[in-house]
Amino acid sequence: MPLTRFETFQTLFPAEPAWRFRQIERALFDPRVNGWQDISNLPQDMRAALAENVAWSSIAEANVYASKDGSTRKALVQLHDREKIETVLMKNKRGEWSVCVSSQVGCSMNCSFCATGRMGLRRNLTADEIIDQLRFWYYFLRDKKLDGRISNIVMMGMGEPLANYENVKSTLRQWLACTDIGPNHITVSTVGLLPFLQKILQDAAWPPVRIAISLHSADETLRKKIVPTTTGNYLAELSQWIKKYLQTKASNKRHVTFEYVLLRGVNDSVRDAKLLADFVTTTGRVKVNLIPFNDINDAALQRSNNTDEFAAVLKKCGVTVTVRQSAGLDIMAACGQLANSLYPRP
Ligand code: SAH
Repeated sequence: MPLTRFETFQTLFPAEPAWRFRQIERALFDPRVNGWQDISNLPQDMRAALAENVAWSSIAEANVYASKDGSTRKALVQLHDREKIETVLMKNKRGEWSVCVSSQVGCSMNCSFCATGRMGLRRNLTADEIIDQLRFWYYFLRDKKLDGRISNIVMMGMGEPLANYENVKSTLRQWLACTDIGPNHITVSTVGLLPFLQKILQDAAWPPVRIAISLHSADETLRKKIVPTTTGNYLAELSQWIKKYLQTKASNKRHVTFEYVLLRGVNDSVRDAKLLADFVTTTGRVKVNLIPFNDINDAALQRSNNTDEFAAVLKKCGVTVTVRQSAGLDIMAACGQLANSLYPRP
């Protein structure tokens, strides 16, 4: 692993005060700055040393694909070691842009319906590599002269963010410090690993971003089948966690989101909806986001045709429910499809 930007800076300039590096971090998000030489408040020799030793972006190369309707762009990004990840830019309901970033190259969680899981985990991304996915889209919008600001970030690309806890945390802190995107507009989506969720409760430095938990079933045996990281007594422990989180970490208006991919004949029956509604009532402020299954070339898995009924059952039980719009299906950029085009399955 090469040194991070911060480590390289410390090695080059061990005596510099911390505010100097913060100045640099801010410049990374300044649209007028295109490289180390442009950071006009740094001494000339420091700019020269940085230019020689540190890449301006950890993204070595990127190919961008646009969906036919123009609402979605996917960048296939190459990193210094030739590993590849994907990041997605999509128009949101307010006509602004949302960016979806990856947190790992591949993923070890192995959820049955997700293409990324099938490639296994290749490595964690560094904080620079996560941070730079957002920078990439800022430069892209600027250079292509596209209208609209980036208003939201979702960490829903490749990988399990909490399995890369420290790098994800420093990324979030840097975005919050250096961009105009606030914590209510950043969502970390997790498969719901309890030890890391517990860690968040203890961690005063964990930023107050939104959390979405990929639940996918409120029947523990079924969840274990489709989300193999499900541990014993999972639902009871998750429910406890949510209560604590809402009490101690979240402001009064805050909620937790459950993501739920609807798979035909697997988790989409009226019984499944009722179980979910019952579970939600044990936890307090939770909203449900139903996700239409996006094809990953596996004949055994199909999109549910029961979404409306499933949503209606939840609503009737008083659960707040939304259905996610799939974006970028024609360029394999939708949820769960990232990696398909990169690493063909055996
Ligand atoms: N590891 C994180 C981020 C994964 S991607 C997590 O588990 O939350 C974000 C969402 O897309 C997750 O809810 C994930 O379960 C969902 N997803 C995965 N595969 C999908 C597919 N084929 N179709 C639709 N959604 C999918």
